[in-house]
Amino acid sequence: MRKMGIVELISAVVLLGGLCAESKYMVYNTSARIDAGKINVHLVPHTHDDVGWLKTVDQYYVGSNNSIQGACVQNALDSLVPALLADKNRKFIYVEQAFFQRWWRDQSELTQSIIKKLVSSGQLEFINGGMCMHDEAVPHYIDMIDQTTLGHRFLKEEFGVTPRIGWQIDPFGHSAVQAYLLGAEVGFDSVFFARIDYQDRIKRKKEKSLEVIWRGSKSLGSSAQIFAGAFPEHYEPPPGFYFEVNADSPVVQDNVDLFDYNVQDRVNDFVAAAIAQANLTRTNHIMWTMGTDFKYQYAHTWFRNMDKLIHYVNKDGRVNALYSTPSIYTDAKYATSKSWPLKIDDYFPYADRANAYWTGYYTSRPALKFYVRIMSGYYLAARQLEFFKGRSDSRPNTDALADALAIAQHHDAVTGTEKQHVANDYAKRLSIGYTEAEKVVASSLACLTDSKSSIGCEDSTTNLQQCPLLNITYCPASETNLSHGKNLIVVIYNSLGWKREDVVRFPVVNEDVAVRDSKGRKIESQLVPIVDAYVDLRNYYARAYLGSIPNVVPKFWLAFTVSVPALGFSTYTISTSKKPGAGSTKSSIFKFQMGEKPAIEVGEGDLKLTISASPRKIINYVNNRNLVEESVDQSFSFYTGYNGAKDKVPQNSGAYIFRPNGTYPIKAEQASVTVIKGPLIHEVHQQINTWIFQTTRLYKEKEHIEVEFIVGPVPIDDGFGKEVATQITTSLESNKTFYTDSNGRDFVKRIRDFRTDWDLEVNQPVAGNYYPITLGIYIQDKEKEFSVLVDRSLAGSSVVDGQIELMLHRRLLLDDSRGVAEALNETICVLDDCRGLAVQGKYYYRIDSLGEGAKWRRSFGQEIYSPLLLAFTEEDGDNWMSSHTPTFSGIDASYSLPDNVALITLQELEDGKVLLRLAHLYEIGEDSVLSVMSRVELKKLFPGKKIAKVTEMSLSANQEREEMEKKRLVWEVEGENQNPKVARGSQVDPKELEVELAPMEIRTFVIQFEVDLITAAAFKRIVDA
Ligand SMILES: [Zn+2]
Repeated sequence: MRKMGIVELISAVVLLGGLCAESKYMVYNTSARIDAGKINVHLVPHTHDDVGWLKTVDQYYVGSNNSIQGACVQNALDSLVPALLADKNRKFIYVEQAFFQRWWRDQSELTQSIIKKLVSSGQLEFINGGMCMHDEAVPHYIDMIDQTTLGHRFLKEEFGVTPRIGWQIDPFGHSAVQAYLLGAEVGFDSVFFARIDYQDRIKRKKEKSLEVIWRGSKSLGSSAQIFAGAFPEHYEPPPGFYFEVNADSPVVQDNVDLFDYNVQDRVNDFVAAAIAQANLTRTNHIMWTMGTDFKYQYAHTWFRNMDKLIHYVNKDGRVNALYSTPSIYTDAKYATSKSWPLKIDDYFPYADRANAYWTGYYTSRPALKFYVRIMSGYYLAARQLEFFKGRSDSRPNTDALADALAIAQHHDAVTGTEKQHVANDYAKRLSIGYTEAEKVVASSLACLTDSKSSIGCEDSTTNLQQCPLLNITYCPASETNLSHGKNLIVVIYNSLGWKREDVVRFPVVNEDVAVRDSKGRKIESQLVPIVDAYVDLRNYYARAYLGSIPNVVPKFWLAFTVSVPALGFSTYTISTSKKPGAGSTKSSIFKFQMGEKPAIEVGEGDLKLTISASPRKIINYVNNRNLVEESVDQSFSFYTGYNGAKDKVPQNSGAYIFRPNGTYPIKAEQASVTVIKGPLIHEVHQQINTWIFQTTRLYKEKEHIEVEFIVGPVPIDDGFGKEVATQITTSLESNKTFYTDSNGRDFVKRIRDFRTDWDLEVNQPVAGNYYPITLGIYIQDKEKEFSVLVDRSLAGSSVVDGQIELMLHRRLLLDDSRGVAEALNETICVLDDCRGLAVQGKYYYRIDSLGEGAKWRRSFGQEIYSPLLLAFTEEDGDNWMSSHTPTFSGIDASYSLPDNVALITLQELEDGKVLLRLAHLYEIGEDSVLSVMSRVELKKLFPGKKIAKVTEMSLSANQEREEMEKKRLVWEVEGENQNPKVARGSQVDPKELEVELAPMEIRTFVIQFEVDLITAAAFKRIVDA
């Protein structure tokens, strides 16, 4: 309607103007293809649609809440259809599947069939193809794989297509894992992005090395390399070629009957911009990214102007302009048979100008980051249990959690760079997804524990409850009063592929309790007092989350050592102890004033810490097994957030950017420490100040230190935002060198104040040396290595030799001018009473002889990612163990995965087939024993089932691996005659069914079973009964 109106209006104006021009319909020639003799300007129409940022994903989709940002993805996709149909040469790429799927579900069959034609003709191409454009610094690689798989499999099923280009145009720096794993291993031939360090960019422009062959993995080398292109500026068009309906670039006015005819000017501008860009890049192909955030809401304005530009520029003839896509561009680059500069490692950290390091977001919103991580591990376990029980098409299932987790990997989600209401939306989605997955887990465990009865699983009456709020010491299921003869049954599930011994703990209200294992044997247990800091946290947060304070406050954590089979569970019984003193051991409590005793020793096992009183709190760390000894000083400090208001180039510290303005040590205000000792656990409690509480914990059977912190509410009443860090200082001579992981996978070497790719000009000695930590960080010298592992993504560094620093929490009062327009000031409210958010978390450290740390980092890293899953129920009487299955393993009881292999996906697909991913955990040369080819016996992974067919797939499981390898472009690296050979596991023999895995290799399979023998057996039991 409005369009007609405009046309009428223009006609009226023309008539009034008295120009009696004859109407002439202009046909633009947009058919240009590549011209080998000219500079080819590939116009790539695109929109960048953030899956949540200033608005929630749904608000962006429907176009609501427009006072924040006028953005409506529905409009873009709607207007694209007629625009593409109007000219078959026009092209468009679409990226974010979270939006596309929302839109797709809303379309008529007719529109869907039109879209399918546009896709098969290549006019509409899906690029990247995950649910979102995930961040590359803070997501865990398993989440990156899962969210990409979700999008890729949808595209395969609906359209039969497999995206071949990575499009990470906005994430804030780029990871090695993105290049080799989420790039080459999903079958991408290239990856494009905009954000690299401003100093790096200057050099690459000068050397024409914006486009490279990127080998992200030392272990997989050239077998997983990818063509990677950094844009010369950003992911927008060159200035002046920006044609959104309300944009201020001059439109191409080619009607001679109207004023302001500008064809020659626009052609000249175009040619000038093209030549300028061609001077920065190799070959005669350049890409113009025609679009930016939430554009093409009225697609016609873009295409009308691009039609004209292609027509007139090509008529001019100096350069060749064409509608293109990144695939066409990549193929054109490849066809030139050039060799390219080699890039290794990654593009972190990222600064877009001096004093603007995007290293703050590695820690921003640490509670959301933890929520995402804990849900990720839970989702992995829930899918295993869903498979063991048998997936049902009806709900509950794990799909909602999959979707929520996928969206949460977006580069303004888990990053913490979204507005507060959007962060709340991500958390809400995770909570809804969890609630449904929790039912799957409960019913599967009930089914598996009930399987002694001959009826199927559906009728299980066992009500197993879980404790998602255990981290605030709140677990109603375990806080049941056992004094009237009730027993508490705890079913403990282990999602790792090997048997596991670990200490579990949960709050209990009774003091005289005894713990028995699956065989009814009493086992050692310890009661650890719940101190005030935890009670306060529990009461406030339970009230904030649930609206009420729990009546009874438990006084103790009950802790005991459990042994749980691979992919299986064990069951433990908690009951009141008949004889006093025969149950759990109460911890002894000692309170010391600093200086009262020269030293306090803790540690029941091989590992011992001696804490000396003065002058500062120095810890002596001794491991009596391997005789490693080291002095450790652990402390806290905060940085105040910089306020750039008075500067010529203002730059505050904010959600994205870490710009400290001075560092301030936090001195322990209380000079006392409390020591808790018992048979399993020793703890040292320190109230550092009114808003930091710390527990240093040693387990009798473990050789690492666990540090649990509560940081917050961070005070801001002095008017300064604060970024709270902890430093763990050793005497290691680490010589400016430290190692940080890439998305929880490969470790990358870092050197302080140094970059491999250019001569670094240091303007931020702290922020510019910060790196993302997803799994851990370590340093080493000639004798020892010192490793720290984390429970969520955060920022870390080694700013001083021998020291590792972790940024634990950030509370800021200013915005950092990157669009979010809010200060990162998280609060938690009970009614109108709001406090700064307190963050509780853990990190773990250990010191080994040189060359011996990898085993712990890898194995224990898996344990952190996949904590034991606890489910509780009560029973009257004492016959649980005899009436239920007390222990279970989903794999052959005699089997366990090799120490160097993890099972990262076990999932039943909609069609009953099973998706299996196995990951080698070590890099080449990382461990003297474990960095070798490994083997997994598939037959033993699926006892009771007969494997009919094993198909190896690409990492995102959207095509057969073989097919992917056949299509792969083989790029050449400058100075190399041929790509170096890399070891990889050989093809799986259909009879042997053994999977080989080379260091760092991840292999993905779809497995089909001959007959479901378990179901058949269950059926037989029913018939026999
Ligand atoms: Zn973005």
